[in-house]
Amino acid sequence: MTTITTRCPHCKALNRLPSERINDEASCGSCKEKLFDGMPIEGTSDNFSTLLESDKPVVVDFWAPWCNPCVGFAPIFSDVSKERDGEARFVKIDTEDQQALAAQYRIRSIPTIMVFKGGKMVDMLNGALPKSHFDQWLNEALTK
Ligand SMILES: [Zn+2]
Repeated sequence: MTTITTRCPHCKALNRLPSERINDEASCGSCKEKLFDGMPIEGTSDNFSTLLESDKPVVVDFWAPWCNPCVGFAPIFSDVSKERDGEARFVKIDTEDQQALAAQYRIRSIPTIMVFKGGKMVDMLNGALPKSHFDQWLNEALTK
């Protein structure tokens, strides 16, 4: 059985659960809030390959806390994540924390947004976009 470690978006506690439950109504062992309530999931080298096995497209935001455009884009990414809950899974990777993943995916500039289907990258975007443009880009990327 594959397990996944994911951080609770509410209390930040780490939770370990079977990977098939990432599509369920899993709740946090610590605060009992929903683990997957449409908010982006924090991607790490521990959980990312399991997240990519999702049967839904996975949209990844490679970012860093010191990057102003990234921080400005964060609320847009969260909003779109909530709006498209069930359609795609949204993951944020802090490239400062997760340097191995940043190197593996050859992240040269941030923010970089990647869309994965069946574990394969199908589209990539460099730089932040206003929400309407990001939605447009995503509509196309998700049909690839
Ligand atoms: Zn919690």
